[in-house]
Amino acid sequence: MPKTVKCKILEIIERTSNVKSFRLRPEEAVDYQAGQFMSVSLDVNGSVQSKYFTISGSPAIKDYIEFTKKITDSAFSKALNELRPGDELTITMPMGRFTLDRSNGKIAFLCGGIGITPIRGICQYVKGKSLDKDIVLIYGNHRQSDIAFKEELDQMAGEFERFRVVHVLDNPQGEWKGYTGFINKVTDKAYFHKKLLRKKFLIIRSVFFSFAARLKW
Ligand SMILES: Cc1cc2nc3c(=O)[nH]c(=O)nc-3n(C[C@H](O)[C@H](O)[C@H](O)COP(=O)(O)OP(=O)(O)OC[C@H]3O[C@@H](n4cnc5c(N)ncnc54)[C@H](O)[C@@H]3O)c2cc1C
Repeated sequence: MPKTVKCKILEIIERTSNVKSFRLRPEEAVDYQAGQFMSVSLDVNGSVQSKYFTISGSPAIKDYIEFTKKITDSAFSKALNELRPGDELTITMPMGRFTLDRSNGKIAFLCGGIGITPIRGICQYVKGKSLDKDIVLIYGNHRQSDIAFKEELDQMAGEFERFRVVHVLDNPQGEWKGYTGFINKVTDKAYFHKKLLRKKFLIIRSVFFSFAARLKW
């Protein structure tokens, strides 16, 4: 059953120019699985508004619960963007079935933009717990500067040989030696089919949240 709890904002981290992570300390502990989501409620111009956000971190990290939002011009986004460490908001969680099934050993994630959030949480959990999984992440963005968590994902790929990340940009700026175009261009390539599909990877797409939230794998 989802619980509603008050939280204090511990830290706000800028991931890109328009993507921020909010680290929260809940008043009481709430259990969840990597990939699940929460509802975040806050005061927007005098009335309470709520929106859904995926938990972008791992449940193995007990110090905080994190969500990551693409900041837009909406009233909710502006109100959230004005919050500072020490401010409070209310969350309801956990919800969703986009969670790790222990039977899948080889997983390929396909995601675009802010669709990275549940996948980042799952990858962080798999690495932190040294789970027996091979993961390939195909991650599409517009430009280099739009890639949220890039440094962390690249570092994870360097340290953990069973995790690979393939960045794909549809509008690279300056020098870019990686893949270009939309992610289907990469998945159509012989490389992907030979190296991944023949090894029986399970392919997970996370572009539309309503779809992701209903997925059980
Ligand atoms: C299960 C689930 C998980 C999710 N996880 C995440 C997540 O991890 N991270 C995340 O960022 N989002 C996530 N979402 C989406 C999230 O709930 C919001 O819908 C999304 O962040 C957009 O909210 P918003 O308030 O910024 O914009 P909205 O109010 O939804 O508006 C959408 C766009 O329209 C523009 N707009 C709004 N009002 C006006 C207006 N009057 N005039 C002109 N333009 C306008 C806004 O600037 C914005 O660009 C998730 C959704 C679901 C269902």
